[in-house]
Amino acid sequence: MENNSLNSPIDKIKGVGPKIKSQLEKIGINFVEDALFLLPKSYENRTKLTQIKDLVPGQPFQVEGEIIESKIYYPGRRAFFARITDGTGFLQVRLFFFSQQQAKSFEKGLSVRLYGVVRNSGNKLEVFHPSYKIFNSKFRPPLDDTLTPVYSLGSSKITQYRLRNIIKNCIEKINESNLNEENIDKTFLNEKISNLSIKEALKIIHNPSIDDDIIKIKQFEHPAQKRLIIEELITNLIGVKISTKKVDEMKAASINYNKELLISFYKCLPFSLTNAQGRVIEEIQEDMKNSRPMRRLVQGDVGSGKTVVAAAAMLTCAKSDLQSVLLCPTEVLAEQHFKNFSMWFSSENIEIKLLTGKTKKKEWEKIDQNLRSGKTKILIGTHSVFQERVSMKNLSLVVVDEQQRFGVRQRFEMLQKSKEKLLPHQLFMTATPIPRTLAMTIFADLSVSKIDEMPPGRNPVITSVMSNDKKDDLVKRLEIICSEGNQAFWLCTMIEESESLDVQAAESAKDWISKKSKNLKVGLVHSKLNKSQKDSVIEDFRTGKIDVLVCTTVIEVGMDVPNASLMIIENAERLGLSQLHQLRGRVGRGPDMNAHCVLLYQGKLGELAESRMAAMKETTDGFKISEIDMKIRGSGEILGTKQSGGMELKIADLMRDAHHLDSAEKLANILISSPNEVEILMKRWVGNKQNLIAAQ
Ligand code: ADP
Ligand code: MG
Repeated sequence: MENNSLNSPIDKIKGVGPKIKSQLEKIGINFVEDALFLLPKSYENRTKLTQIKDLVPGQPFQVEGEIIESKIYYPGRRAFFARITDGTGFLQVRLFFFSQQQAKSFEKGLSVRLYGVVRNSGNKLEVFHPSYKIFNSKFRPPLDDTLTPVYSLGSSKITQYRLRNIIKNCIEKINESNLNEENIDKTFLNEKISNLSIKEALKIIHNPSIDDDIIKIKQFEHPAQKRLIIEELITNLIGVKISTKKVDEMKAASINYNKELLISFYKCLPFSLTNAQGRVIEEIQEDMKNSRPMRRLVQGDVGSGKTVVAAAAMLTCAKSDLQSVLLCPTEVLAEQHFKNFSMWFSSENIEIKLLTGKTKKKEWEKIDQNLRSGKTKILIGTHSVFQERVSMKNLSLVVVDEQQRFGVRQRFEMLQKSKEKLLPHQLFMTATPIPRTLAMTIFADLSVSKIDEMPPGRNPVITSVMSNDKKDDLVKRLEIICSEGNQAFWLCTMIEESESLDVQAAESAKDWISKKSKNLKVGLVHSKLNKSQKDSVIEDFRTGKIDVLVCTTVIEVGMDVPNASLMIIENAERLGLSQLHQLRGRVGRGPDMNAHCVLLYQGKLGELAESRMAAMKETTDGFKISEIDMKIRGSGEILGTKQSGGMELKIADLMRDAHHLDSAEKLANILISSPNEVEILMKRWVGNKQNLIAAQ
């Protein structure tokens, strides 16, 4: 393996200096091979041009035209405007975040090639923040001859353009490498599962030619995708087998529970538990009595009351003088849980601490000390902080909330964190249902509890679907519900990959509502605010100082404001069903409330978007929603958000690709007996750190 150029650090690649290197690290790219396995999340077709007269609002397109007007203007804030024509019509371009140099480059008389999503503005067509290339018409650049890959950029500041070039340079290295000398390819071939080598599959996946079957690619049924999907599934199956074996050699603290203690805890709650909650609490307590480490998934629809179930388990630990942690995907959620726990346990003498990215150094030092000494019994925090910094005296239970993280990577992480032969019990809470067959195959030793009952007095949220053109009427509705003492969310969805556009949409929605109504107090949260700004707005909303919270998908998981009764989602046609369901679950959490959800759409609804909207109107049952979701997705619809059923997968999707599991199982059983191949697979698909443990 020594001479394998794919193992070289990424900064050996042309175009990667120290700055870019650190941005690449943020998306997990340290070596050339990591870049190759960052797989496109979608593709753009930039191989052809559309005439302006043929543009359809809401659809991606590429056009080319002459710049006939361009200016910086101030519609309340600095913005850029340009107009272009290709002889068949006119198109307006607007930028809200731009440099002087960018504005200047739009010189009248030059040509520009744009890629973006067009929208109607009055009777004109316009596009916000397209990607573009300006040129002199004498030197017209050639069109792309392959589909253009779009990668997930995560929190990295790198641009798509740059990342594409870097990955392209990495692909060139494939030929010099010994990737195809390995036995994995041969095993695929021998078992007649795929005759594509990993090299060939990667080349196709990053730059599919337009002669490739684009529909198959969109449906993840192209042979190159199949090759990669099965390989990833194999890796996970092997990972599960290895980690299960390790877990079997380990023990957890056996924690006896005290019924009286729980009964007195229930008495302190401001509500009585549902039967389902009571049953699931018992199931968990029974598990924790065992010295076999628990791995239990609690499935319960949004609002079914999962938090209190976790609280009961953590209380039992604390009363046995053992520590537990609750891990949350966001700080907002961690703080919310912290407040609830502090209230619920106020009559108990238990030290509870909150740890997020915001925790000051001094305070952290104190917490750290008390975690090490065992004085702090319950820690609530964000996953990332916990992973990096925490060391505890006798951690016995880890609860993971709404994070979709119970895959192989997390198993190895947990094994790595645990001391000697003692592993904490693990509890995962999720609103996403996972079909039983999948749970059995790929999660093997995960037991499942269901909270299949809602707290009493919850009325289903009534959902309606409306064209964006009618949104003026909504302001009146906002005024009515707020004058009755309720509150509303106004949600602006992510536009493609562009975070700044998302923010811009939210800002203009806030301005628009404030202008239309003098009576409403409108707040705004989005990802560009810093944490304390975000928190103070959310706090104002929680305490009722704000009537309408305009937001981006920041609020998606877990946020609990019992007074909120109206959820308005702009461009709802862009979101997947389960995401819509999650968002709708933010309202109607108070008792006997008549809550509503309005799904706004732009342009004309496509057939599949229409079936999603219909499903939302028809039911509020998360299990039904997810069934319908699978049916729709089965018919070829692939949305940006992957639902991998609890694993962070690069390409495979357990629901979509379930039919490949048999092949994957067959190959996994063959490959698991060769340590070299296992190591290669783990490194590729799970990551370096985990590899170390797996190889032990
Ligand atoms: P989720 O399952 O979505 O995490 P939460 O745990 O956030 O749900 O609970 C949603 C809301 O319902 C919270 O305000 C919580 O206090 C409340 N709640 C939980 N259990 C009950 C119950 N049995 N009766 C009434 N309200 C409850
Ligand atoms: Mg929750």
